[in-house]
Amino acid sequence: MSRDMARNYIGGKWCDSAAERLDVRDPSTDEVIGQVPLSSSKEVEAAAQAASDAFEEWRETPPVVRIQYLFRLRELMEENYEDLARTIVLEEGKTLDEARGEMRRTIENIEVAAGTPSLMMGRNLEDVARGIDEEVVRQPMGVFACIAPFNFPAMVPWWFSPYALATGNTYVIKPSEQVPFSQQRIFELLHELDLPPGVINLVHGGREAVEALVEHPSIVGVSAVTSTPVARHIYAKASAQGKRAQCQAGAKNFIVVMPDADLGRAVPGLITSFFGCAGERCLAGSVLVAVGDVYEPLKERFTAAARDLTVGNPMDETVQMGPVISQQHRERVLAHIEAGLKEGARLILDGRAVSVEGCERGYFLGPTILDDVHPDMSIAKEEIFGPVPSLMRVGDLSEALDIIDRNPYGNAASIYTSSGAAAREFKYRVRCGNIGINVGVVAAMAFFPFGGTKESFFGDLHGQGQDAVDFFTEKKVVISRW
Ligand code: NAD
Repeated sequence: MSRDMARNYIGGKWCDSAAERLDVRDPSTDEVIGQVPLSSSKEVEAAAQAASDAFEEWRETPPVVRIQYLFRLRELMEENYEDLARTIVLEEGKTLDEARGEMRRTIENIEVAAGTPSLMMGRNLEDVARGIDEEVVRQPMGVFACIAPFNFPAMVPWWFSPYALATGNTYVIKPSEQVPFSQQRIFELLHELDLPPGVINLVHGGREAVEALVEHPSIVGVSAVTSTPVARHIYAKASAQGKRAQCQAGAKNFIVVMPDADLGRAVPGLITSFFGCAGERCLAGSVLVAVGDVYEPLKERFTAAARDLTVGNPMDETVQMGPVISQQHRERVLAHIEAGLKEGARLILDGRAVSVEGCERGYFLGPTILDDVHPDMSIAKEEIFGPVPSLMRVGDLSEALDIIDRNPYGNAASIYTSSGAAAREFKYRVRCGNIGINVGVVAAMAFFPFGGTKESFFGDLHGQGQDAVDFFTEKKVVISRW
């Protein structure tokens, strides 16, 4: 497992960076597991140049040949599955099962991208006028880049990069500086493929590297997955230069439970949604909205199930929730709880004092539930990104829909109900990119588009599947007469 110095991978070679380094810590123990360079704009320039130099030859490589590399990468990922999952756990802190799930989703995107020769096919019509044919063809555009967040260190760059490569573009990945080693490990596997140098490159770093990527003239588009202020900034900067940009951003997800919901089936889904990945996923539930009479039984069963969760070292197979990513983030989540209490919310489950034997310095926070939350409180409006659900009580579905509508984010929302009419009303009215009906974590499979609306997404084409192929290609119409 790579646990020392994260290195850049540029033009098919591992490169030591001369830049300032940051310590990378295991969130379960606070131990330093390695260092990451905050690469300079010069190093980004070298990666962009290598990708640009590789482009002409790569675009001329037939798609059926390009996807052979993806098949082989898929096999290498399967062979190294457990090692990759453990690398994710080590640097991110999610549980082993959650990390295995992340690797599965990573591989699924590679599998779907291997269908690119079909997804990329153009269309044609003979005799648009007598003796004249018209066709539309798709072509790759050049060098694209991905700017990734900490919470899915392996998967997020692979929502985009397999499609970019299969369609004939070349690529630069910049992982989050908090979790450099999962991509490092994936690039060790990529290195075994003998791809032409420069087709895919890895640059570690922070803000300077991001700015340099977005500004670089050879980079024609970016896929960013970040908090909302960063996404808005990257989108504005990239699009002002005429670049393509798809920027997936923050979230505040509401889950509505109707009085007719089957709580026996709903509660396990709710627990996974609010506490899975310690609440650090853009699809995590954040506000639990109880409609009418369901409030009391829902509160009781949800709180009891949350209290039973095993918090601990995520490398332990029996543990159900690991730490949050950093001490700084833990303090941010605690500040949200404090703000909620000041605004009048009530703690009905307090996980702030949780302690894990053998991991006393880890960034743990037990399940924490705030009740009596009102829509105008900060905890009901702002992204928390931790295991801290807010419980809210409303009179009817229409009131719940109005609250969701007023929230600036639009990543995901779910309803638990046994009424087709309520489910239909919800699906029809809620303006979110991902809607769950009796499903709490609305994670689109790789052959569906993935992205949000409102302040959760800046751009138009989403990640994954056909949307990704559209994002990475431009269309030309050819009209011919012979
Ligand atoms: P972040 O915004 O702090 O960092 C994400 C990336 O942006 C990193 O690579 C980082 O180096 C870079 N970055 C940070 N600050 C920057 C700045 N000022 N200028 C330029 N670049 C900067 O986010 P994070 O804490 O790593 O990840 C969590 C956030 O990502 C949450 O808001 C979460 O909702 C969001 N997210 C969204 C999705 C989605 O699909 N919508 C998926 C995963 C995570």
